[in-house]
Amino acid sequence: MTIQKTAGIHHITAFARNPQENVDFYAGVLGLRLVKKTINFDAPEVYHLYFGDKAGSPGTIITFFPHPDSRKGRIGGGQVGVTTYAVPAGALAFWEERLAGFGIPLRQASRFGERYLQFDDNEGLRLELVEREAGANSEWEFGGIPADKAIKGFGGAILFSANAKRTAAVLEQVLGMTRVGEEDGYTRFRASGEIGNIVDVPTADMPWGAPGAGTIHHIAWRAADFEQHVQWQREVSEAGFQPTEVIDRQYFNAIYFRESGGILFEIATDPPGFANDEPAESLGGKLMLPSWYEPHRAQIEANLLPIEVRELIPQALRADPDSV
Ligand code: ZN
Repeated sequence: MTIQKTAGIHHITAFARNPQENVDFYAGVLGLRLVKKTINFDAPEVYHLYFGDKAGSPGTIITFFPHPDSRKGRIGGGQVGVTTYAVPAGALAFWEERLAGFGIPLRQASRFGERYLQFDDNEGLRLELVEREAGANSEWEFGGIPADKAIKGFGGAILFSANAKRTAAVLEQVLGMTRVGEEDGYTRFRASGEIGNIVDVPTADMPWGAPGAGTIHHIAWRAADFEQHVQWQREVSEAGFQPTEVIDRQYFNAIYFRESGGILFEIATDPPGFANDEPAESLGGKLMLPSWYEPHRAQIEANLLPIEVRELIPQALRADPDSV
């Protein structure tokens, strides 16, 4: 059996609480594009917000279910522990200044000879930035972040496995990643894509986390097309896991399975993408509903807190500290 090889991360999905704060952080502070404003298809009173590059390319997309009543989660084993974003070479100094300007505490880290700038989002979700040569520069300029400084997409992720050895086996044998090596208490894996392709797993098994706001629900890996996707579903099953049926998520097809270290894995198709139901120029502008919810649009919209994408100015650059 030939092992299929993923190009890397397709998207990462997390829980949040306040939707406007979520938009302010990922669009306003990080400068990502809100590429889709929709609802949780299983719970229409909750938004499903997608942030990515200009087109919402696979490997750039982080998605949230912001629910004001969510309880706080605890980051730990069985979750993606840290989400890594890649920025162009030489851009970290810009981000250090920008994030500090927003009053965000920063931490320095290094792994495999790379320097990481680590911080938390407004809910405590752990993020980091790393400079990478690979991957095209962003074509989305927002909030005073020039293209040669803007986030390109995911650099990768740190998986907090409750069973590191078995998670490693899934990455290599089911997802077709290459083991790069072991250093500083991490094992590094590489997928074939240019972004979202570097995955680190702490060599020590991690104590279990608890789901909730400020934690990641699942990580999705890329399948190039629908045919490969169906093939993967068979292979996941043959490897001893229980994948779901193929689910149509409107912007990609999905299967889900829980890997042996406790992390919920999804495999998602690159097609059809986010211009499937609205023009590429106006992605994220309108609340998009699947057809079966369309007759209930007025009621669904009335139940959602209004949100807007707005430019935010770092405190340090503000002329008047009281203005927003
Ligand atoms: Zn997903």
